[in-house]
Amino acid sequence: MRGKGSVERADNLLEPPAASDLVRLRPDEKPRFWVTIDTEEDFDWSAPFARIGYRLDSVPALADCQSYFEAANVAPIYLVDWPIVADDRAVAILGEARAAGRCEVGAQLHPWVTPPHDEEVNERNSYTGNLPPELQRAKMTALRDAIRDGFGEAPTVYRAGRYGLGPDSAAMLADLGFRCDTSVRSGFDYRPGHGPDYRAMPLYPWWTRSADRRLLEVPVTTVFGGLLGKAGRWLYHRTSSNSHAAFARLGLAERIALTPEGIPAAKACHAIDIAVETRLPILNFSFHSPSLQPGNTPYVRTDADLSDFYRWWGVVLDHLAKRGVEPTTTAEILDMAQRNAAERLNALAKLCYAPLSRIIPPGACSSMVRAGRS
Ligand SMILES: [Zn+2]
Repeated sequence: MRGKGSVERADNLLEPPAASDLVRLRPDEKPRFWVTIDTEEDFDWSAPFARIGYRLDSVPALADCQSYFEAANVAPIYLVDWPIVADDRAVAILGEARAAGRCEVGAQLHPWVTPPHDEEVNERNSYTGNLPPELQRAKMTALRDAIRDGFGEAPTVYRAGRYGLGPDSAAMLADLGFRCDTSVRSGFDYRPGHGPDYRAMPLYPWWTRSADRRLLEVPVTTVFGGLLGKAGRWLYHRTSSNSHAAFARLGLAERIALTPEGIPAAKACHAIDIAVETRLPILNFSFHSPSLQPGNTPYVRTDADLSDFYRWWGVVLDHLAKRGVEPTTTAEILDMAQRNAAERLNALAKLCYAPLSRIIPPGACSSMVRAGRS
């Protein structure tokens, strides 16, 4: 039934959602932060994609990372991919912390290293959403089952490697038991590499409507700062990358992702302020686990870079505490978003009963609300 092109808008994570599907904070709720870690193999980011030849040298560094966040009272979520879940050391480190409730484990799909291997390995096919739907589903299923077997529980949070969603992803994820996707990187355009265009996507979480089963999208947070305010985002997306550096120097418009990878701590703190003032429900931080060992990513080349990486977190966690932004977990995010949806339905029910009660029988109205039609 659900062929390409026939996907409903509310089901397609590549289309901006309706305003009524966005999750917003109640006046008495505060923004929270979530640390999401793309937990993956070490590979040369500038070389062509390859099925073999990757390394797993940075796996022991996951223990240092976990100790760091534990000491800071933060339970990060490790979005593990196929090579990681196949590594006994990784499963031991993360499994123990997970069992103690000190971290969470979700899924991250790098299709080029995940079976079944039925596609040609190239840049276009590095975005799962570009593969034939049956192959996407087969890879998602294999990864889900491997995580379930390795950690004793199926993952409920998914991130597409390279943010590579397709129009069918939300429906497939809901079918496979996922509750939450965090693959939308709002404010980024990956079309030059055959990937998705997320320029127009919101920073607020939203509910997709895959049949009856709803999936929550929690986009990765990137804000636009600068004197131009909201117009900065508009300008940024209509100009070349050469102009972007000039805009940033002049303080006019600047794109700031919540990540220690390439973003100075002072800028990240500024981005936190913007996110708090915008009342984003979730400040979704992200980085890649190979950055936990010098030499794997462009961001952490030396031991000094690694010290800076943890110093960055020190500054950022202090700033979050100062702003009253506390860490959160998947369960808390889903609770908050569910409450939000329920309150909206209640508000609708009230609207229904008050002025329309004379023309619509009350029973008809409440059954409509129960069925989740908003
Ligand atoms: Zn990745």
